[in-house]
Amino acid sequence: MVLAPYACHPEASRGRRFPEPVAPTRSDFQRDRDRIVHSTAFRRLVYKTQVFLNHEGDLFRTRLTHSLEVAQLGRSIARTLKLNEDLVEAIALAHDLGHTPFGHAGQDALNDCLRKHNPESAGFEHNLQSLRVVDFLEERYPEHDGLNLTFETREGILKHCSARNARHIEAREPGGVAHRFIAEPRGQPSLEAQLANLADEIAYNAHDIDDGVRSGLLRLEQLEEVELFSQYCREAQLAHPRLAGRRLLFEAIRRMLSAQVYNVIDATWQAIRSAGPSDADAVRQCPPLVCFADEMTRQSAALKRFLLANLYRHPKVVQTTVAAQQVVRDLFEAYMSDPAQMPQAHLDRFDGAESPYRPGAKPERVVADYIAGMTDRFATREHERLKGQTVFASV
Ligand code: MG
Repeated sequence: MVLAPYACHPEASRGRRFPEPVAPTRSDFQRDRDRIVHSTAFRRLVYKTQVFLNHEGDLFRTRLTHSLEVAQLGRSIARTLKLNEDLVEAIALAHDLGHTPFGHAGQDALNDCLRKHNPESAGFEHNLQSLRVVDFLEERYPEHDGLNLTFETREGILKHCSARNARHIEAREPGGVAHRFIAEPRGQPSLEAQLANLADEIAYNAHDIDDGVRSGLLRLEQLEEVELFSQYCREAQLAHPRLAGRRLLFEAIRRMLSAQVYNVIDATWQAIRSAGPSDADAVRQCPPLVCFADEMTRQSAALKRFLLANLYRHPKVVQTTVAAQQVVRDLFEAYMSDPAQMPQAHLDRFDGAESPYRPGAKPERVVADYIAGMTDRFATREHERLKGQTVFASV
């Protein structure tokens, strides 16, 4: 793999929190990817909600299949741009490790629980939780907590971070992965991290159309109002006049995905050419460089608005959201009032300090970690055990 000068080169990595000798056959970013794939948190993604709850059907995306699609898109674009595919893949596979059960509904509920319990709480942010998982919560190595990933993978995982939580991280790791959120001017992450981020957006916009139609909550005709989709749907119909139903949907999505991928490649080439970064560190001082062209940005935003109004806020989705939030709130209350309901390994993490970024913590943070790590079905079963109520009948 010949990398561009502005790509992240493994031999120029800013390294791991705990230094390790290099592996004989794999680069540091390949090792990061392998560690992520072998982690417990990664396996849990298979039973975590993307949009549709896990028990609603076997063919909908889960966090795992979503992450694989992000990795596929990211790698494919990275290869063309001569960026580091292994790093993009590592970031893509890890980017959702911190997600709670029940998707965004679970995250919002957990954030509310923490803030209601203690108005001073740093709350729950899923990007920071993903970092917490790979830095502390995975327990696999004899000498340290976490997976001891490289700076570059961790930088990509911490996609967003509030200034307040960035200061918590900065206190433990000065000039580290959170520095760009509090620096003036604000810095950017590597091109590989920027790419994993945009690949995430491309992936969910496309697969949520597919899952939305599969679920019956969206109709193909409704999508005619979405310019980004309808132009490729028309194109597919012109090329294949008898195409209809599911195959038409897939063909339209395939064309839409390809158009977005080529658009990112062209727009990013141009942005890189005009900014002219000499290496990965120079990229961090530039404006964001991995991007769509203006027209695609506009069309992609319109698609997002459509999905928000017609899918994510569909009454049926909202109904399950309300139930899922109740499960999370009930679990939080149950463990806070009787922490011994949690496994001993979690009780051992109580050490009385409150910070969203350190290994030990106050009970509410440990409870939040425990709940955030749960799969949809484990959370549902725990809720049944502790509350005697069946919220989702078909689990
Ligand atoms: Mg994602």
